[in-house]
Amino acid sequence: MLLSMKEMLMDAKQNKYAVGQFNMNSFQWVEAILQAAEEEQSPVIIASTDRIVDYLGGLRLIAATTKKLVEEMNITVPVTLHLDHGFTVERCKEAIDAGYSSVMFDGSKFPIDQNIEMTKEVVDYAKAHGVSVEAEIGSVGGTEDGVTSGIKYADPNECFRLVRETKVDALAAALGSVHGVYQGEPKFAFDLMQEISEGTDIPLALHGGSGIPDHQIVKAIQYGHAKINVNTECNQAWAKKIRELLSNDPELYSPPAILGPGMDAIRGVVKEKIRLFGSNQKAKTHVH
Ligand SMILES: [Zn+2]
Repeated sequence: MLLSMKEMLMDAKQNKYAVGQFNMNSFQWVEAILQAAEEEQSPVIIASTDRIVDYLGGLRLIAATTKKLVEEMNITVPVTLHLDHGFTVERCKEAIDAGYSSVMFDGSKFPIDQNIEMTKEVVDYAKAHGVSVEAEIGSVGGTEDGVTSGIKYADPNECFRLVRETKVDALAAALGSVHGVYQGEPKFAFDLMQEISEGTDIPLALHGGSGIPDHQIVKAIQYGHAKINVNTECNQAWAKKIRELLSNDPELYSPPAILGPGMDAIRGVVKEKIRLFGSNQKAKTHVH
């Protein structure tokens, strides 16, 4: 069974740790992430960005495969399947119908009134299905799936309004992190972070969690982040391992001998992040 992220994030926020969101890029990612979470006895959020959904075969295939992997691998830790950066209200509803247990509606490019209105429509539909919702305010910059944009810091008053009017479960407020690779250290607005966390009183979600120095991650958790998204670092570790294997042995072509170590590299990063975020041994055991 796939669970909403609401309860796991409330527990994380209360106890000052964060649950990692790890993105899938093929179903081997899902397998590696589930293994890592089980080994660390950690709750976990597995996500597909809206942009990768079609490449992976569609929302229903992703939901069914993830559910089946959870069962067949005898996973006992809480698992959420989350749609990352849902493009439209309709797309979020389709994901919920397909079996996702959580969705993000990213209305950050719209004026605030419109963002609130559309987010609310997603929340109303999601709540009726026991599904959690994340919203975004401001603009997390950087490069995600080939699209590059600048940072626009979140406005606290817009955050308070959106949370009050929509009743979302988590908020991605742009506070200095970026998607993809950082140039130097990120410039976090920790004062804004504290103000938004206290004023909204819901778990904050940090996008672009790859490549942030550990001390900033720890501080972001202290200041209200209960969900941290990681994608780039898993992909870099995977590519590095495979590049190494192929360049060391020009005769190598056996897929398990190439892809197996690639999965191990992903699992290693996920376990490391789980420990950094403090969610290890925090699984309240579920029967899936
Ligand atoms: Zn993001």
